[in-house]
Amino acid sequence: MALAPSAASSSSIFSYQDYLEGLSTRSFDAIFEIDAEPFIGEVPVIEVGADVWREVERRLYRALKPTQIATFADACNDCGNCDVYCPEDGGPHIEKPRFFGTVEAWRRASPLTGFVLTKQEDAVVLRGRMAEGEFILSHRPGSADALLDTPSATMAIDWSSHEVLSARRRESRIPSHESRIPDSESPPSTTRGEALSSSKGRAIVDLSVYMTLRILLGALLRAHRVNFANAAVVE
Ligand code: SF4
Repeated sequence: MALAPSAASSSSIFSYQDYLEGLSTRSFDAIFEIDAEPFIGEVPVIEVGADVWREVERRLYRALKPTQIATFADACNDCGNCDVYCPEDGGPHIEKPRFFGTVEAWRRASPLTGFVLTKQEDAVVLRGRMAEGEFILSHRPGSADALLDTPSATMAIDWSSHEVLSARRRESRIPSHESRIPDSESPPSTTRGEALSSSKGRAIVDLSVYMTLRILLGALLRAHRVNFANAAVVE
């Protein structure tokens, strides 16, 4: 459970900001801070066929605050104390990224949104359930790319530039760099998140979900902040 802010002395009130500033870099608490790399830029929307793919649109993505609040669901009892002291609308336990300690706990909580970080062999794996569906981002530390699994497509994405390197429908076995369709072909209309274009049997993937996972994964891998969500991976 998170420590609830309380009166620190008769002359000063311990504010929510004081509480956040007092969070240690090793915070085994239900509410903790992560240091995220700010990002503002366009992310692609990709149309993925069996063995072909193309970029159909770019959308603005903004994540400006370098320090973010997150919650550890396994230690949170939804008491709402943090909501009382939070200066923003909406309680942190509801509005902020929610992390789980195990894949089993993350699955049990469905359809609640949330994330779980694990290590599989030499790769770090962040699973995320969001409004758009369930996604998995895997990365081998030191490698130049990451793999994004969506409900209907798998794609390799450059770890630094966030450009798509290859993409394929999940049932296709051959991701190919040469399979990109020329951009001159007219793109289909798209919606946010992921949707199937049933007439063509193709998936539309908005890489905004990738950016959310990428920013969170990058933050969790910063070993100077250790918490319930990343301790098993970074320590
Ligand atoms: S609702 Fe907020 S204060 Fe209550 S246990 Fe969860 S994180 Fe802590």
